[in-house]
Order: sequence, then C-alpha cells, then structure tokens
Amino acid sequence: MTSDKINIDTLVVGAGQAGVAMSEHLTKLGIPHLVLEKNRIAEAWRTGRWDSLVANGPAWHDRFPGMAFTGVDPDGFVPKEQIADYFAAYADKFNAPIRTGVEVKRVQRNLGRPGFSIETSEGIIEANHVVAATGPFQRPVIPAIAPQDPRITQLHSAHYRNPQQLPTGAVLVVGAGSSGVQIADELRRAGKQVYLSVGAHDRPPRSYRNRDFCWWLGVLGLWDAAVSQPGKEHVTIAVTGAHGGYTVDFRELAHEGVTLVGLTRSFQDGSVTFAADLKENIARGDENYLELLDAADAYIARNGLDLPEEPTARHILPDPECITDPILQLNLSAAGITSIIWATGYTVDYGWLKVDAFDDRGKPQHQRGVSSEPGVYFLGLPWLSRRGSTFIWGVWHDAKYIADHIATQRSYWQYRDAGQR
Ligand SMILES: Cc1cc2nc3c(=O)[nH]c(=O)nc-3n(C[C@H](O)[C@H](O)[C@H](O)COP(=O)(O)OP(=O)(O)OC[C@H]3O[C@@H](n4cnc5c(N)ncnc54)[C@H](O)[C@@H]3O)c2cc1C
Repeated sequence: MTSDKINIDTLVVGAGQAGVAMSEHLTKLGIPHLVLEKNRIAEAWRTGRWDSLVANGPAWHDRFPGMAFTGVDPDGFVPKEQIADYFAAYADKFNAPIRTGVEVKRVQRNLGRPGFSIETSEGIIEANHVVAATGPFQRPVIPAIAPQDPRITQLHSAHYRNPQQLPTGAVLVVGAGSSGVQIADELRRAGKQVYLSVGAHDRPPRSYRNRDFCWWLGVLGLWDAAVSQPGKEHVTIAVTGAHGGYTVDFRELAHEGVTLVGLTRSFQDGSVTFAADLKENIARGDENYLELLDAADAYIARNGLDLPEEPTARHILPDPECITDPILQLNLSAAGITSIIWATGYTVDYGWLKVDAFDDRGKPQHQRGVSSEPGVYFLGLPWLSRRGSTFIWGVWHDAKYIADHIATQRSYWQYRDAGQR
C-alpha cells in the first residue's frame, strides 16, 4: 500500500474463506473494494490447524459453488494445505483485490460525514462499508480451571501440531468435538495413553446408506436451520474425515484404549475432578446419532429412494468400563499425565472495531450479518444466518446476502432528488 490515503467503497477485513467469498460477490456486483489480510490468504487453514487435519466434509461438498477441487476424489477429504491452496487459486480466478501482510488496527465511524476511517499497519483508508471477515475462531479459549503447574505441558488445540510435540507420558484431552476427538485418536494411534474428557456433543454418522452426513444434513434442511435449539448453541459436532472418514464412536475409542472421562470440573493439589455426566453425555450423543438415522430412513421411504439398507449402523457396542465405572477424580502424576490439550474452542476478538455494533457483553449485534452500526457487516460467525454459516459452503451464501445489502445501500446513496439532478 502507498502512504497516500486510500478511498474505497467497501473494505473487507480478513482473507480467509469468508473474505474471498465476499470479494467474489462484491466483484460480481461491480462494487469497488479492497480486502486486507494481516497474514496470507487462508492462513488459518495453512498454519492454524494441526498437521494431519483434513476437511470434515467430502471434497464435493466442502467447497464454493464456483470451483471444484482438482485431482481429488470427490468423496475424499481434502488435506488442509490443499484447502488453503484452493482459496488462493479461487481468489486468483477473479483477480480478487487482496493485499496480504496488512493488518487493520482500528475502524472508527467518521463524525459529520459518512463512512469510516480505518487505521492499518500501512496507512489510513476511508471506506463507506466495512465487512469484518476475521473468522469465527480468532482467540483460543482455555478455561480458568487450567492448573498452574509448570510440570504439565498445556496446549490449546489451535497450537497442537502432532504427537511428537508432546513430552513422554499420558495426555488429557479436554473437549470431544471434532478437534478433541481427532487429536485424541491421533495420540492413541501414536502409542500414547489418552484420557478424553467428553462433554455434550452431537455425533452424526460419517455416512449412512451410501450418503455422507453432509448430504443428509443438506437434504433434511439441517444445514439451513436458522437458529440452534435452545441450550444446544455451543454443542460440538464429533465428526472426522481422517483416515478416509469414519463415524466417531466413543465406545469404540474406549475399546481401543482411550479412557473416557466426564466434563473436566477442576484441578486441585495435583488431581483433576470430572463431572459424573459421562454416561449421560454418551447417551445424548447416541440419541442424536439415532435421530439422524431415523430421519434418513423416513426421507428414503418418503421419496422412494433406492439406497441400500444398513442395519449394522444401529449396533451399539457394549459400554466399556470407563463408562460403567467412571473415573471422577484422577491424580495427574499417578496417572502419568504430563500434558493437557485444551480442545475447548475459540472466541472472537473485535478490539479493532470501535463502532456501535456490540451488545453489553461485547457480542456482535446483527441480523444475517448486517450489524446495528449502519455500514458495518459481520461474516463467518456461528449461526450468522444458519447452521452452515461458519462452514466453507455456508459462508459463500451469507457473503452473497451481505454484498446485495451493500449494493442496495449504495443505490440509496446514489439517489439524487429533483433539485440535485
Ligand atoms: C480445527 C478446525 C477444522 C475445521 N474444519 C472445517 C471443515 O472441514 N469444513 C468446513 O467447512 N469448515 C471447517 N472449519 C470451520 C471454518 O471453515 C474455518 O474455521 C475457517 O477458517 C473460517 O474461515 P473464515 O474466513 O471465516 O476465518 P479465518 O479462516 O480465520 O480467516 C480470517 C482471516 O482474517 C485475518 N485477520 C484477522 N484479524 C485481522 C485484522 N485485524 N486485519 C487483517 N486481517 C485480519 C486472519 O489472519 C485470517 O486469515 C474448521 C474449523 C476448525 C477450527
């Protein structure tokens, strides 16, 4: 960027999948814009995930409508580097005006004139609209209960890369959503003794009756659900595309050697305490799993589809001992635990966005991404418009809506009354 002040209609902050999608829609509508990215395009996919991560959905599904993955089995699960390359190639395809290595430091509404002043690491920009596409998972969250014990290596899943990174000894993985469950399985396969703390979760089948769960959620309208069920807003989905993709089955993991424990409650005097909720959490996950099989069966019957029956999908393994006789307290050194991985999620960080678009608790206030501060938009947030909003295919549709909204606002501003014409 030059040191001269830049004036642009729309500034998009962040060039992950959300920023790239936003740029495509703005380009199609002819809206002058600029995307600023503090790192590289799709940096989160490149360096913010563990080494072996592959997409959770198959290649035919986890992509933008405008381009398929090349040289990949459409039913396969694309490795993270290739996903990052895909977004970089996608941006190239329409010559997206992305500037990398430029951080947005502060956005402020102008006083007495329209638009925003934006302070960046390379100068000031003026824009009429600002789209915050900085991601749903910006700041890793480690709960306050984490022990202050220098003998234990503690990592958030955002900083976990591979088993070699951990010291010798057993590991406690806290959280059993997609990240926790995949990391626990990787560590078990690497020969580590693993304790996995399992909270509330959804557990869809990887596939059922020859269709991936992404297909089922699509045809059953579940990706489009506009609001999460009360109390289930933050329930994680235990699903994986690793090793060709398989259904996450906690009992099977336990039979293979992982010790399941309930929700991690507290640490004191070298011991960790777990809630007595493991059996219930596993049962709820089973319920969610079986509900999806039932809904799929009903859909097949209603539409007379010729998809093979799969009765084995309903077989539930016997409860392992860690479920029937759960561990409620564990002395870390007696159990040989030398590390803890916190797969406990992320929060957002909008410290740079100094506008009136947040509620009392600092949560973005918006409707389908159109914020309470005219001219400011959010993109990529969980449940922005629907369940699919944080995912590759979902964010593209949300970006389209926001681009349309910006185009409509531009036409109001372009209006001139009779005296002005
Ligand atoms: C472990 C994991 C696995 C996932 N797997 C899948 C999957 O298989 N399929 C799927 O559909 N989704 C998946 N997701 C969800 C989602 O697709 C990704 O999190 C995705 O990276 C979100 O894209 P985004 O563009 O919204 O945000 P990000 O990819 O986080 O991009 C935001 C960008 O903004 C930049 N930025 C931030 N602040 C500033 C600033 N002030 N100035 C300039 N730039 C800034 C960042 O550098 C970053 O590049 C996964 C998420 C996680 C955590």
